[in-house]
Amino acid sequence: MTQLKQWQHADAAHHLHPFTNQAEINKTGTRVISHAEGAYIYEADGHKLLDGMSGLWCCNLGYTQPKINQAIAEQLQELPYYNTFFQCTHPRATELAEAISQRAPAHMNRVFYTNSGSEANDSAIRMIHRYWDALGQPQRKAIIARDNAYHGSTIGGASLGGMAFMHKQFTPLENIHHIAQPYWYGANADISPDEFGLQAAQELEKKIQELGENNVAAFFAEPIQGAGGVIIPPQSYWPEIQRICDQYSILLVVDEVIFGFGRTGHWFASECYGLTPDFIVFAKAVTNGFQPLGGLLISDRVSKALLSHTDDLAHGFTYSGHPVACAAALATLDILSDGYIDKVRIELSQAMEDYWLALGEHPLVGEARCKGFVGALELVKDKSSRKRFDKNGKAGALCRDASLQSGLVMRATGDTMIIAPPFILDRSDVKDLTEKAWQALDITLKKLS
Ligand code: PLP
Repeated sequence: MTQLKQWQHADAAHHLHPFTNQAEINKTGTRVISHAEGAYIYEADGHKLLDGMSGLWCCNLGYTQPKINQAIAEQLQELPYYNTFFQCTHPRATELAEAISQRAPAHMNRVFYTNSGSEANDSAIRMIHRYWDALGQPQRKAIIARDNAYHGSTIGGASLGGMAFMHKQFTPLENIHHIAQPYWYGANADISPDEFGLQAAQELEKKIQELGENNVAAFFAEPIQGAGGVIIPPQSYWPEIQRICDQYSILLVVDEVIFGFGRTGHWFASECYGLTPDFIVFAKAVTNGFQPLGGLLISDRVSKALLSHTDDLAHGFTYSGHPVACAAALATLDILSDGYIDKVRIELSQAMEDYWLALGEHPLVGEARCKGFVGALELVKDKSSRKRFDKNGKAGALCRDASLQSGLVMRATGDTMIIAPPFILDRSDVKDLTEKAWQALDITLKKLS
């Protein structure tokens, strides 16, 4: 048996994978990714792929970053572990909290650490309860989130998320309510994107009124829905959401697990959309995916309320602010600070507009969209009527496989194709990526006809 076959055999026998169809694994074997370099990953059989997804939206600086590796190695020598409970800290947790705050919107100056985005969303729920307790309004427990959102896989994260196929597999937390997403193309709306965006935002106001404004604690949303299909809201959407949150004093939680640390060409997408969140949820790219780390950036008004309690905050994780993860994050922020945020905003956004949007000309593509360095393609049966394929997900799965065949990792969400490539690419790489995507679309179209 080859080494690859041995891995596949052991994997099929012993490994329960996240978000994976086990029957598919048993049929085809897992794809074993054995090494990586720059923006490329390599399968154990040697197949080279341009990673258009930066891993799982996390390796935004690609896979080769010696400075991060060195920071990890040095930290392991200096202090491999200590915790941040019971009045303790260590240098890296402190330095990182300061470094993140310095890059955050001006009114956000405090950081709480978790290991992941899911835990950070769960932690936000806990902090929100404590915030309203401090303000003497403990009845404010209702949370509003959106359909088709992804906020993680813990019970809190998955309840906040609006993915029906996930909710089917467990009993979601009570008192979390969902409104429609601002998905103009998907709704096949016959009104302008801005009119649609305004209506979608006003669903929040309707829901607050339905639940009773004194019962609503917070609104959770991704700035751009990522896993749900890179749903870029119309320009009118976020200003109206901010107005509603302000008017009803609802806490605004912006889940920037994907978009934080540069994906829109700003340190945080909240800045790009002019938002004043109470919490920014972060994870993934904060360490370039090299160490697990997540957390919450907390606004001054929420910090003040949280600190007004005289009892201990009874919440935290053994690895909250793990020194090795914090060291990796500090090195990542250092590298990002060396021109990458501007590069995304200026060079890579332009390259996406020039090359990625041109994929909209392909007969299979109903809409190509992008923002910063993220893009999506809607695969449709008929462009003019936006008619979808009968079995949602079939065209997407074919296109994902065709893309791998063409040497590119693209992700499929139903029949929406997604990319979020590493910032180390340049304009000519974006052209190359787009050519591979076009090739994948051609192969898919042939298979579908
Ligand atoms: N929130 C968003 C917007 C995400 O995209 C994800 C993961 O993809 C999460 C939360 C969950 O993060 P994690 O997988 O680190 O728990």
